[in-house]
Amino acid sequence: MSVTTLTVGRLFIGGEWTDAADGGRMDVIAPSTGEKIADVARAGVADVDAAVAAARRAFDEGPWPRLSSRERARVLQRAYALMRERAEELAQLESLDVGKPITFARVVDVNNAAELYEYYAALGHRLDGEVREITAAAHAYIRPEPLGVVAAITPFNFPLILSSTKIAPALAAGNTVVHKPASDTPLSALLMAEILRDAGVPEGVFNVVTGPGSTLGDHLVGHPDVDKVAFTGSTEVGAHAAGLAGRSLTPFTAELGGNAANILFADADLDRAVHTIISAFVFNAGQFCMAGPRLLVERSLYGVVLGILKDAVPQVPFGDIADPATVIGPLASRTQLDKVSALVERARAAGARVVTGGHAVEHDGGFFYAPTVIADVAPDAEVVVDEVFGPVLTVQPFDTEDEAVALANGTPFGLASGIQTADLARAHRVAARLRAGITWINGWAVLDPSVPFGGVKASGWGREGGPEALQSYQKAHSIVFDLGGTA
Ligand code: NAD
Repeated sequence: MSVTTLTVGRLFIGGEWTDAADGGRMDVIAPSTGEKIADVARAGVADVDAAVAAARRAFDEGPWPRLSSRERARVLQRAYALMRERAEELAQLESLDVGKPITFARVVDVNNAAELYEYYAALGHRLDGEVREITAAAHAYIRPEPLGVVAAITPFNFPLILSSTKIAPALAAGNTVVHKPASDTPLSALLMAEILRDAGVPEGVFNVVTGPGSTLGDHLVGHPDVDKVAFTGSTEVGAHAAGLAGRSLTPFTAELGGNAANILFADADLDRAVHTIISAFVFNAGQFCMAGPRLLVERSLYGVVLGILKDAVPQVPFGDIADPATVIGPLASRTQLDKVSALVERARAAGARVVTGGHAVEHDGGFFYAPTVIADVAPDAEVVVDEVFGPVLTVQPFDTEDEAVALANGTPFGLASGIQTADLARAHRVAARLRAGITWINGWAVLDPSVPFGGVKASGWGREGGPEALQSYQKAHSIVFDLGGTA
C-alpha cells in the first residue's frame, strides 16, 4: 500500500481539499529508510488566514456550536467507529510517517486515539450546566459554552494521539478547530480530516494546515480570530508561543518537554521493575515526553542493575518497523538522530560510562540509534538535566528516600515520574513529594482517556485527558435573573 494512495496531501480548509495559495509542497520522509514517501502542501500565512476564517465562520454562523451536545457526541461516536474501520490504514500511515514499529502503531497509537473520540463522545452526552442557589430574589444558572476557534498544534512523536487529545474534547464542547501537525509527520492529520468529514463534522469545523511551524506557528498563535491555543511540543517553542498568545490574552495550554525519573527501591520485584525500566526508556525510541530516561537506583542494587541492563537492553527487538515483533524503530528524523548522537558523545567526553549502545546503527538507510545505558553521571550533567528524546537511559545511585526525591525533582521538567517498590506506604509517601503531573507506581505509561496528564514547571500547564481537558475548551457563562422581589 503506497502512502500517496492514503492521503491527498493537500490542505483541508472549509470542508475542501485545497493547494497552498503559493502552490508550495514539502516532502515527507520515512524515518525507517530516509526516503521520500509522500509530499504535502506547504501552507503559508495566507492559508492560515483562510483556515482560521473558515473555522471562525463555522463557529459564528454554522450549526456545530448550536447542535445539542448529544448530536455532536453522535458525530464523535461515528468518528470513533470509522477510526476502528480504518484502523489498519491509520496504523500503517502512522508507522511509516513516524517510524513506529507497526505493533505499537496499532496497539498504542490508533487504539488510544480512537478511544479518545469514544471517551469524549460519552462525556459530551452530558454537558449539563448547573443551577446555583443564590438568594430568594434571584436565580442563577451556569451554561458551559465553547470558546470558539481552537488552534491545535502538535509535535512529531505521537501525531494521532496528541491531535486527538485536543480535537476530540474541543469538538465535543462545540468549538471549531484549525489543526497544525508537526511538519515532519503530517500524514495522519489528513486522514483524520477525511474521517471526521465522513463522520458528519460540518464544513469549516475541522481544518488542517500542513507546513513549517517557523512560518505558520506565530501567525496562527497570534491570530486575532483564534480563541484558544492548545500546544504540545518542546519547552522552548512552547514558551515562545505562550508569550505570543499572552500578548492577545488568548487562553493557552502548554504540554511541553519531559525528563522523568524512575525510582527503583531495593525492595521492588526486580524482574518486573527491569521490564518496566527498559520499556519506559525504549518505547517510541525514547521520543516520548513521558518516557523514563533517568533511572535512580538504591545504591545496593546499582551494580546489579547495570549488569542486568547491559545484558538485557541489546536483546530488545530492534529494526524493521513492519515486523510485528519489533519494539525499537528509528528516530523520527535525521535532525533527531544527530541531536541524540551529539548529546551522548558530549556525555562520553565528559567522563560518563556508556554501559551499552552509544552509537547510531546502519539499517536500511533509516535514522536508527542503539538503545543506550549511561552510568557514572553527575546529577547536573547535560545528558541528565536536558531532555534527550532518544533511547537513552542514565542511571544514578541514591542512598536515602530524601536523596531520591531530590534527584527526581532536580531538573527543570515535571511531567511524569515512576516509583518501583514493594512498600506501599513508601510509594504513596514518595509520590506525594514528586513534582510531576503523573506518577506511575510499579509500572509505566499506563494511560487512559479518563486520566488527565500534563506538566508542572518547564513541562507546561493545563491537562489533557479526562473531564479536565473538556473544561479547558469551555467557558462558564453565568446567567442571573433578578426576580424582582426582596431578598
Ligand atoms: P516543537 O516544539 O519543535 O514543535 C511542536 C509543534 O510546534 C510543531 O507542530 C511545530 O511545527 C510547531 N511550531 C514550531 N514553531 C512554532 C511557533 N513559533 N509557534 C507555534 N508553533 C510552532 O516540538 P517537536 O520537536 O515536534 O516535539 C518534541 C517535543 O514535544 C519534546 O520536547 C516533547 O517532550 C514534547 N512533547 C510533549 C508532550 C506532552 O504531552 N507534554 C507530548 C509529546 C511531545
